[in-house]
Amino acid sequence: MEKKELPRELRDRHGRTVRYLRISVTDRCNLCCRYCRTQEVPFIAHEKILRFEEIEEVIRLAVNFGVHKLRFTGGEPFARKGFMDFLKKLRLRFPRLALKLTTNGTLLAPYLGDLKELDVSVNLSLDTLDREKFAAITRRDMLPLVTDNLQRMLELGIPLKINAVAVRGVNEADLPALASLAMEHPVDVRFIEFMPMGDESIWSGDSFWPAAQILEAARTHWRLEAVRDSAEAAAAGDARERGPARLWKLRTPDGRLSRGNFGLITSVSQSFCHSCNRLRLTADGHLRTCLFDDREYSIRDVLRNEGPEAVARIMAEAVADKPVGAEILAARHGPVARKRMSAIGG
Ligand code: SAM
Repeated sequence: MEKKELPRELRDRHGRTVRYLRISVTDRCNLCCRYCRTQEVPFIAHEKILRFEEIEEVIRLAVNFGVHKLRFTGGEPFARKGFMDFLKKLRLRFPRLALKLTTNGTLLAPYLGDLKELDVSVNLSLDTLDREKFAAITRRDMLPLVTDNLQRMLELGIPLKINAVAVRGVNEADLPALASLAMEHPVDVRFIEFMPMGDESIWSGDSFWPAAQILEAARTHWRLEAVRDSAEAAAAGDARERGPARLWKLRTPDGRLSRGNFGLITSVSQSFCHSCNRLRLTADGHLRTCLFDDREYSIRDVLRNEGPEAVARIMAEAVADKPVGAEILAARHGPVARKRMSAIGG
């Protein structure tokens, strides 16, 4: 039988086109954040993890389909040996790709110069600036490592965003200190709504701190001036470039304007599924088209046994079926996904 021709782009039935691949390079993490992994869990065996050459092959296929932005996540990307060498290789092979990284910041010190040189932008996950609270959330006393690396990234001028997961009863009091980083430095500080991910998630109605209330809390400290609205951006067709955060400048009572922005990522209360352009690759070689949808498409063994064209077909078929996550979320009252975030990559 004649094979169907591959599409030129990764388009779904809702008219969205995938341009952004998020790659979890490992499920291993040196922290154990309570909202992400409720307990220390065994990590995936090495042979089940995609080799770097295999990830590179998936990237090549994605680029052929028009993907122009990659984000590396985990687990903790730098917990995987050889990760920086992999980034260097990728930069040589794909000089025009936007390379981004989501990290807890604890292991960055030896790599900061390289990140700058390779033009990698960094999303730093940081939920508090209080050392004891950091240790309580992450189960590790490592805040000084993170703040040192944050300082060095600012000095080096590495493009940087800070993401805090907003958990009621945990880090409400940390909003002023975290948002002040955007006041003083050219960084966006974004609060992400806590998502009910994973069977054993500690998520509950009580721990959920909705964006509307986070905004109210910020307004008790600053005047907020909207800089852009992702809904408007989507209407203008460029949400792809702007991402899902709604952003504000902060103004102090005496009129000083923030250098960076304060942001909210309303993954739960107000979805941005209509403009979602993402595809995820898990560390053990599964494609996932939506955080909230448990359907995954195994490509590791297909790549090993059948080759790249078969993987490209799975990619196209998987994306064609990409769901609208908000509909899945609305139909549930508990966790929306069986896997915890560390196994998907966030
Ligand atoms: N270890 C890296 C880090 O800390 O950034 C990358 C992996 S981590 C799973 C990616 C992001 O997901 C982090 O910003 C983390 O805070 C966030 N995250 C984990 N569980 C979450 C949840 N249930 N809701 C919202 N964000 C979550």
